[in-house]
Amino acid sequence: MLNTAWRQVLTLGEFDLIKRFFTPANYSSDVLLGVGDDAAVLAVPQHCRLVAAVDTVVEGVHFPVKTSAADIAYRALAVNLSDMAAMGAQPRWFTLSLSMPQADEQWISEFSVGLSRLAARFSVQLVGGDTVKGPLSISIQILGLVDKDQWLTRSGAKPGDLIFVSGALGEAAGGLQLLLKPDLHASLEHRQYLLERFYHPTPRVELGLRLKLVASSAMDVSDGLLTDLRKLCAASHCGADLQLDSLPHSKPMNSVFGAAGAEHLALHGGDDYELLFTVPADDVVALQDIMTETGVPCTEIGRITRNGGVQCYRSQDAVVVEEGGYDHFAVVN
Ligand code: ADP
Ligand code: MG
Repeated sequence: MLNTAWRQVLTLGEFDLIKRFFTPANYSSDVLLGVGDDAAVLAVPQHCRLVAAVDTVVEGVHFPVKTSAADIAYRALAVNLSDMAAMGAQPRWFTLSLSMPQADEQWISEFSVGLSRLAARFSVQLVGGDTVKGPLSISIQILGLVDKDQWLTRSGAKPGDLIFVSGALGEAAGGLQLLLKPDLHASLEHRQYLLERFYHPTPRVELGLRLKLVASSAMDVSDGLLTDLRKLCAASHCGADLQLDSLPHSKPMNSVFGAAGAEHLALHGGDDYELLFTVPADDVVALQDIMTETGVPCTEIGRITRNGGVQCYRSQDAVVVEEGGYDHFAVVN
């Protein structure tokens, strides 16, 4: 649907716009009908279940106002791919709802290049969407497949399971801090590294697919470790002991923010899109193989407990950490 106001500002023909920038040149055989009709028709293999998720990114909320069109496209798709990773699903198709204030051909072209590049990397296909005039906001619905009865959830953690996180934590929030506070001192190398982690988080799709056989629960870290671990514990009706000394944070984080700052961002920073998951102690050996084969380092950061709530420890000592999870309504421009 294209609204009336949109028709007045559109310099390219509306169908031309969709045809030029949002119609893939070819589809795999499971797309029976793609962009161009009233809806897409997709072939779901008989032994599979369909896994669906949707995520919206809004200018000034999920990305700073000056973010490039290609980086916005990357983020919009990456956060959805990360949801598939957290479910242990193979992402296959997505639809795109694009709200933008004007039809700037250059912007749309860069957006579509950024989008199709990431889509190709993860073999997901754009099969439909919607284009409207309004504040800049991108909503992507993603569809993926799992083998029957084989998916990951937040609710399967059991007391005694070990808690792991992939990659490093707090780096995306570190990159955002550098954007928001130009006075922060960082070497060019560290600045580039952290900005890259903010703009281009790596969806852990391959890891998620492999974890299905060993993890008792999983979710992706989008709102900050502490907030998300609490969600996992609540869903699993259990608690967690979290070892602060074990949190993975990198040299650039320590160098720019100091050990305490890096720890704060690792605990509370959003947008990392790493996987947080639990593994029964007996399966940790299998996890080692998965880490080697996927090349994704995973760090043990604690243990699931019977009692509710997350208790943090420094060495053997129980400590209280200050609150400060990611605020969805914070304006970042
Ligand atoms: P309708 O009015 O039936 O919703 P539209 O005229 O909005 O159809 O869209 C025409 C076709 O273009 C549909 O197949 C729709 O899925 C697709 N489409 C519209 N906008 C986009 C977009 N931003 N990305 C991909 N496909 C889109
Ligand atoms: Mg229609």
